[in-house]
Amino acid sequence: MVDCPNCGTEVAVAVKCWTVSPAKHTATGDIPEFRVGIFKCPKCKSKFRSRVSSTSKPAETKNVKNLVEKVKEIREGLTQTLRTLREKINTLETERASLLVEIEQLKKVAESRANALEGEVKQLREEIKSLKELLGGNEEID
Ligand SMILES: [Zn+2]
Repeated sequence: MVDCPNCGTEVAVAVKCWTVSPAKHTATGDIPEFRVGIFKCPKCKSKFRSRVSSTSKPAETKNVKNLVEKVKEIREGLTQTLRTLREKINTLETERASLLVEIEQLKKVAESRANALEGEVKQLREEIKSLKELLGGNEEID
């Protein structure tokens, strides 16, 4: 908060502000940095320069803070998404592996059944053959 030198109205936020590092050093040590801002009076529209108190935070810093917060949120969201996707991929890979095992087992079952049927068909053919021989080579059977 600074007062307008023209009309005395309080101006809350600087239009622009920056940090000043004094070049001169005192005998006792460094002069601390301070911030200077350009203010625009909302009442008389006059622009003036003033030192900004360290407690009041300029609008720009707030915006940057909001931005940083937003970027952090987005990054956390992305991390969450990546974690979810990784878990999903893991689950799907496990499922795929177990399905492949199941398919392999079913294939084996089907193969052994096909083999058994083949054997049965072969046996039935031989039975027919021997029956035909028993009937004296007669091709026509009623
Ligand atoms: Zn003013």
